[in-house]
Amino acid sequence: MNHHLSERINNMSTSATLAMAAKARELRNQGKDIIGLSLGEPDFNIPDFIKEAAKRAIDENYSSYSPVDGYADLKQAISNKFKRDNNLDYGLNQIVVSTGAKQSLANIAMCMLNKGDEVILPAPYWVSYSDIVQLAEGVPVEVPTSIDTDFKMTPSQLAAAITPKTKMIWFSSPCNPSGSVYNEKELQGLANVLKKHPNIFVVSDEIYEHINFRGGHVSIAGMEGMYERTITVNGVSKAFAMTGWRIGYIGAPEWIAKACTKFQGQITSGANAIAQRATITALEAPVSKIKYMIDEFHKRRDILLELLGSIEGFNLNVPEGAFYVFPDISSFFGKTLRGTTLRTASDFSLFLLEHALVATVSGESFGNDNCIRISYAASEKELRDAAARIKEALS
Ligand code: PMP
Ligand code: GLU
Repeated sequence: MNHHLSERINNMSTSATLAMAAKARELRNQGKDIIGLSLGEPDFNIPDFIKEAAKRAIDENYSSYSPVDGYADLKQAISNKFKRDNNLDYGLNQIVVSTGAKQSLANIAMCMLNKGDEVILPAPYWVSYSDIVQLAEGVPVEVPTSIDTDFKMTPSQLAAAITPKTKMIWFSSPCNPSGSVYNEKELQGLANVLKKHPNIFVVSDEIYEHINFRGGHVSIAGMEGMYERTITVNGVSKAFAMTGWRIGYIGAPEWIAKACTKFQGQITSGANAIAQRATITALEAPVSKIKYMIDEFHKRRDILLELLGSIEGFNLNVPEGAFYVFPDISSFFGKTLRGTTLRTASDFSLFLLEHALVATVSGESFGNDNCIRISYAASEKELRDAAARIKEALS
């Protein structure tokens, strides 16, 4: 019956991260002992002080529609956070709160792109960028990077990818899926290229800002000439383990924020009221309150790098942020293991699911055919067991 559906939905791929998580859940329900390292979701509980704020909000009857772009006091807390953490000045009319950063990104695409507008995506990129851009009839232009440049786009690669049709660049730092973090010099190099192209806009997805093991997060909006054409995207899913509460936000030029509010007002209205109230408490808290989670991710990264590094054929960078490793496993291509010939990253990821009972995500949907993504938002025991199983299955 799919021919009755719109071309729009028929042309869209299913989110690979969510699809793999669903598959792992299904296999678990069938009694299989799957270790799920596919989903980018902190395994911590929401900190108690944030939960208390949500409970208070229920008792205080925050039950009506909120303003479409978010409560004013939440936007004030976001404005303060931008100043405190990023030295960026965003007034309340430049901020829009949405149902997750995913909706923030969809708003931007629908408000900024016309048919045929090109959007540069340094690859690997977060899985949904490409489909969100295409939904808005934009054309994703992938700029492949490799482990040799720590999966970062260089200024000359950016310059070479720009055409008269280039409208935007979307990237995340710390990056999902590579964990790479652009330092100030690297971002300045990209900003220097953009100086010659004043009509290109930038989406800077900073949702992993706090999960940065080197420290010194840099926002491209703070660089000369960039503030007027950067949309800074952030949210509470990752740093505060609030994935299911669905709050994301942007800081942007006022005219862009206004357009996103108009669009959101026709699609979903304001984000969940209780979650918005809780987000005020989350953002007002000093970052030190969530440091225990970041320290734990750091520790797990080191453990996982050591374990995977001992498996022959895994080529790893040292991710400085987020909670993913993105090993290049192309050395296995063409090999036959347990009767299966591994030709692609998807073959490899499925092989691990079947023979190691470990769920990962193939790099193909992130725009890289040589790698798989492994999330270490899982317990140390799960990581150790998973690495042992992978090693065994590949031996
Ligand atoms: N951007 C990146 C880079 C992500 O990894 C995610 C995944 N959660 C999102 C945006 C969307 O986050 P959410 O909708 O949960 O705020
Ligand atoms: N962003 C997370 C991931 O990359 C959560 C899943 C999703 O929203 O796609 O795994």
